[in-house]
Amino acid sequence: MKSIEDAVRLRYLNIRSDRSRAILKIQHVLIGALREFLAARGFCQVLAPVVGPVTDPGIRGAGIAHFDFYGTSYTIMSSMILYKQMALGAFESVFSLSPNVRLEEASTVDTGRHLAEFYQLDLESARKSCQEMMDLGDGLVCHCIEAVRECSQELDILGRDLPSFSPPFKRIAHRTLEEELSIQGEIPFEKEHDLSRASSEPFWVYDYPVGSRGFYYIERDGTLKSMDLIMPEGFGEVVSGGEREYRYEQVKALLDREGVAHEYSWYLDMLKAGIPPSAGFGLGVERFTRYLCGLDHIWESSPFPKVPGIP
Ligand code: AMP
Ligand code: MG
Repeated sequence: MKSIEDAVRLRYLNIRSDRSRAILKIQHVLIGALREFLAARGFCQVLAPVVGPVTDPGIRGAGIAHFDFYGTSYTIMSSMILYKQMALGAFESVFSLSPNVRLEEASTVDTGRHLAEFYQLDLESARKSCQEMMDLGDGLVCHCIEAVRECSQELDILGRDLPSFSPPFKRIAHRTLEEELSIQGEIPFEKEHDLSRASSEPFWVYDYPVGSRGFYYIERDGTLKSMDLIMPEGFGEVVSGGEREYRYEQVKALLDREGVAHEYSWYLDMLKAGIPPSAGFGLGVERFTRYLCGLDHIWESSPFPKVPGIP
């Protein structure tokens, strides 16, 4: 913790090192590869919102940052999920590189994979399923790994031997893990780390229990249509996504039950006007960079790191 605190404070010095330059160069190649893959598949990039009256509440207990916006309480985006659905009014498939702030528990500094400010590649497609999004994720991840493999000088500096994978990645229903891990909802960070370490390939966990995730996942056949991609070697989750609940009545009932419907007035108005069913996911850019570079801690994959618990 102390060494991370020092490194973050001295970022203006360590950003000049060959090691840091190699990581940021790989990140640059990664961002190009993400864009290239999606543009070739008809995805249109939209600019991400930074602030708004409400944001994604499904962030596993992390705090949301609020500030005064002309006399109204506004939030800094924790993800742009609500806005991705709006963007589908313009295009069938959209993506953004979306800056997010999540005030994660100070203790998450020890997971090695939590920042308090990070970027997500956020994408969404109308009329698609979880299965189709997992197929897309398989292709996207493999495409990026192959693009980064070209950075042989940078990978050498980092001592990273990047594996090759052949998709499709394994897909594991959440219910099959429940007994093995004695879990009911989200997989706790340590258990996810152990699962990740025990695997030599990326794998998906899909179909989460009802009530375990944000209100915007659709419920079908007694489960939430949601999935995560877990990278191997202990690096853990890099993608979360799913199929969306798009029907006004269902969302209104869920938000009423929580007593927060009034906060989501623009969103509910949008659902009332009608939006298409959709599916999509978010991929953490710094998390994926950490994996590609084989970094112990995620702070190194941010040029200007904001780390939980370190102001
Ligand atoms: P979520 O929908 O909350 O799982 O977020 C989508 C993706 O964003 C995750 O799969 C991660 O790759 C990334 N992410 C979420 N929270 C953080 C964080 N605190 N620090 C870095 N990346 C994060
Ligand atoms: Mg997640």
